[in-house]
Amino acid sequence: MRLIHQEIKEKFTPQPWSITETDWESVPKKDSETIFSLANGYLGVRGGFEEEFEPEATGTDFDAMINGVYTFFDYHHVWARPGFPKRWHTITTQMNPFNITVYCNNEKICLQKGKVKDYVRRLDLYHAFTERSFVFVTNDNTEVTIKFQRFISLSVKQLSCSKIQISTNQPADIKIESKLSKRCAPDERKDDIRSNEKWFCEWQEIEDVNGTIVGSQKMNVSGFKIACAFNDDFAFDSVTVEEKDLIKKVYSFCSEPNKEYVYYRFNAHTTDIDFSENYKEFAEKIVLDEKGRGYEKCFSDHKKQWEKFWDNSNIEIDGDDSIQQGIRYCLFSINASVGRDGKTNISANGLMGIWYAGHTFWDTEIFMLPMFLYSDPKVAKNLLMFRYNKLDKARERAKQMDHVGALFPWNTTDGEESGHVFEIATAQYHINNDIFYSIYRYYETTGDHQFMADYGAEILFEISRCMAHRGAFIPLRNNKFCINVVCGPDEYSPVVDNNMYTNYLTRKQLYFALEICELLKERYPEKYKVLYEKCSLSPEELDLWKRAADNMYIGYNKELDIYTQDDQFLYRDPVDIEWLAKNKYPLLHNFHPLNLWRMQVCKQADIVLLMFLYGYEFDKPMIKRIFDYYEPRTIHDSSLSASIHSIVAMDIGYVNESYNYLKQSCRMDLDNYNRNVEHGIHAACCGAAFMMIVNGYGGMRVYDNMLHFTPRIDRRWNYCKFKILFAGSRIEVKINKKTTVYTLLEGEGFKFKHNSSLYKIDKDNKVLELNNEIMEKF
Ligand code: BGC
Repeated sequence: MRLIHQEIKEKFTPQPWSITETDWESVPKKDSETIFSLANGYLGVRGGFEEEFEPEATGTDFDAMINGVYTFFDYHHVWARPGFPKRWHTITTQMNPFNITVYCNNEKICLQKGKVKDYVRRLDLYHAFTERSFVFVTNDNTEVTIKFQRFISLSVKQLSCSKIQISTNQPADIKIESKLSKRCAPDERKDDIRSNEKWFCEWQEIEDVNGTIVGSQKMNVSGFKIACAFNDDFAFDSVTVEEKDLIKKVYSFCSEPNKEYVYYRFNAHTTDIDFSENYKEFAEKIVLDEKGRGYEKCFSDHKKQWEKFWDNSNIEIDGDDSIQQGIRYCLFSINASVGRDGKTNISANGLMGIWYAGHTFWDTEIFMLPMFLYSDPKVAKNLLMFRYNKLDKARERAKQMDHVGALFPWNTTDGEESGHVFEIATAQYHINNDIFYSIYRYYETTGDHQFMADYGAEILFEISRCMAHRGAFIPLRNNKFCINVVCGPDEYSPVVDNNMYTNYLTRKQLYFALEICELLKERYPEKYKVLYEKCSLSPEELDLWKRAADNMYIGYNKELDIYTQDDQFLYRDPVDIEWLAKNKYPLLHNFHPLNLWRMQVCKQADIVLLMFLYGYEFDKPMIKRIFDYYEPRTIHDSSLSASIHSIVAMDIGYVNESYNYLKQSCRMDLDNYNRNVEHGIHAACCGAAFMMIVNGYGGMRVYDNMLHFTPRIDRRWNYCKFKILFAGSRIEVKINKKTTVYTLLEGEGFKFKHNSSLYKIDKDNKVLELNNEIMEKF
């Protein structure tokens, strides 16, 4: 096995539905803060401790963030060129809803300060909450047993709650301080900016409104207004104390031995995006309403929503708790991070970190959307609506770049391009292709014509214009249509010609755009007329799309008998990748770009990714030759790489390699393979967990309007089970060692292929048990 994808030992004991930490000191704090984060697609809070660490202890990032709430500042390019982005957008950190300190006999209960016994923290993946308990022994030998529970509601998006249970073994003076502090910092890497709060907050206020503490702030340049209110429920009276930059409610009481005291806190984060100028009043109202309903009711509503999610999205792997835990952690993280309102998306770090400044990339379309597409397409549609809602900005971006149509930004929060290293940002024109690809898959899966007519077609026409004008027919390439000077998915090969991923998907995109023209003409002629005008279509334009697609240049090397990733890669300097992986990882931090870019090394799957997305259009020996050439030259510095290698390896019979890549990818964050989990989860990698099982082990591909399965199972597993919603019918697929059982759960059923043979599942034939085939080696 190659060094760079070897198995790393599990950092958390494999458990099917939990992540448990029993030693608070062994995992660096920021790492476990990421892992124990909670979120609901709107609000995310990293897993810092309620009492926080003492300032002198290891740095922590106890950040809360709201999806879609960002600020920006101007770029000062020393050498600005036309089309360079003008602003950097960044998600900001918000008021922390879980900041509570408990004292016993005037001693602060703080882990690194006293004697601690029986420490356990557990993230419950099924119901999305955390609990942390321990016994703290004070200097005067009082034992305080304390248990914290918290959740961020999936049923009321503004709501987050916590519960604390406290008991002592002897009478003691207990004090609880429940706090709300001002907090308005940006991306932590920008220290100069962070210290200059005027960039971020025009004002911040915290007040006590009849017992509800309400904090509010206005972002300086972006102008967003945000409130965080809290109220609580406890058996004793509190006093409110104001200190610099915070207000706290303080409860003091004398505990009876072994009696449990339970404290509840209810928070609401609101913004003026949802509530206009009434955002503060709504924060207060939500808190009081939810407090009125009580903690257990709020908790049970939240749990029901998560049960619904798991009902359709659970993946079961029986016989391998390590993979099971990894996969479920990934599914959990994506569901926790996805914006569901068409205005927000999924950031590359999820709602678990701000390293990528809350930016959305192609990660969404290619890696995360499929999981929703085949389980809850409404969510997938809202992710596409995010792009539709940013279409004007993409049109604007195309203009800035002297292109026509629309060019979507490589990284963005609100639709503007934030990526300032143009070689690996703007140059990734395939973002347009990725958006086409997800629209196409959405349409294929749901048959949602109305979506195409109302939104999909407009995006498609504009991005197709952009791509058709971005390339040219090159005489010395037999007048083939070439797309030069782009960056494909492999960011270590920027500014190349004829990246096959880009060319191939552009060809698909242009044909699809022409097909949608026909659909609209026939079924929605009025809409077609409007779009024809709006998108400046013309017979010449449509003819260009057809000619470009028909004549698309696809690079091929005769000597190796492979299609080539781009025109340059094969002719670059050979390197010793094992040595690089051992000594210079990740390469982008260790080499000047001019040295890195001439190496024959891929950062991540590129042409290999194409072999997954459209692999059914290539023969297997070709896929194998491509994999055999590029895989040994891939260093996987990107977390988006291992998953795709797992899927393609499985497709060509490299079963062990596939498993190793599966493990690396689904446990990337839990075991910190990429050594940067402190910054947040790797959301794309988490989304890919679904694909590794469904497309990898299930062998599912969709073409000819039909699902095709080639099921396989790892020798360690007893069975593997998942559900797929396609064309309005939901089936369960259970892959056993020798057979696969397909069960119709919902809908009329459909025809599908299992190991290339056609079957039909329907109301009269609800369960089909079919033999698995022995894997073919190529
Ligand atoms: C990868 C990109 C990815 C980005 C955000 C980069 O390291 O190379 O493909 O979109 O991270 O996840």
